[in-house]
Amino acid sequence: MQNKFGKAIKMTNQGALIIISGFSGAGKGTLVNKLISEHDRFALSISMTTRNPREGEVNGREYFFVSKEEFEKTIAEDGLLEHACYVGNYYGTPKAYVKEQMQKGKDVILEIEVQGALQIKEKYPDAILMFVTPPSIEELNRRLHGRGTESEEVIEKRLTRAKEEVHLIEKYDYIVVNDHLDSCVQNVISYIDAAKMMPLRQVDFVELLKEELSKL
Ligand code: 5GP
Repeated sequence: MQNKFGKAIKMTNQGALIIISGFSGAGKGTLVNKLISEHDRFALSISMTTRNPREGEVNGREYFFVSKEEFEKTIAEDGLLEHACYVGNYYGTPKAYVKEQMQKGKDVILEIEVQGALQIKEKYPDAILMFVTPPSIEELNRRLHGRGTESEEVIEKRLTRAKEEVHLIEKYDYIVVNDHLDSCVQNVISYIDAAKMMPLRQVDFVELLKEELSKL
């Protein structure tokens, strides 16, 4: 973009902080994997957790698996953007990687549960919060049972959690209906692009416009 003096006026270069939460069974993992693997503009934050690795999980890939002491030390050193306790374990987002990637211009995705998402919204009002849901509860139920890997008790726990989470959806910026994966990915990208053009996320650009106009 050019101003009257031929000098380029740049929109903000800094990447955005993208929060993705949603009901268990909504397909968040698949959605995030597709966003990351097919679009270079995104970076994925790797969380720290005190829960034990599941079969096939690798330290530093799915999570940084740490002891409770190490986790608490990181909190004390102000090394986490947010953290929460979920089903008896700590989960948190290491600060350094997120900041570094955002400065490089990457949109950083945090796949986190609702308590952490709301902490981020408090601390970073320009974060973009998305809540992923299947098109209906009937479909959610079908997907949870369709996995075939979880006991009825675990499914019940996830549905109980969904009943709590549903009351917090209104605090999010966008609802992402995960019906067909490809269109869902396209929708997420459109929402992010639109959100980035809100004046709240273009503060420097707006200030520059004001400054240039004041000189005329
Ligand atoms: P799981 O143990 O199934 O991998 O994750 C349990 C829940 O913790 C999921 O809802 C996941 O999104 C959430 N989670 C993963 N990492 C973080 C994190 O860094 N912070 C918060 N607040 N939640 C997280």
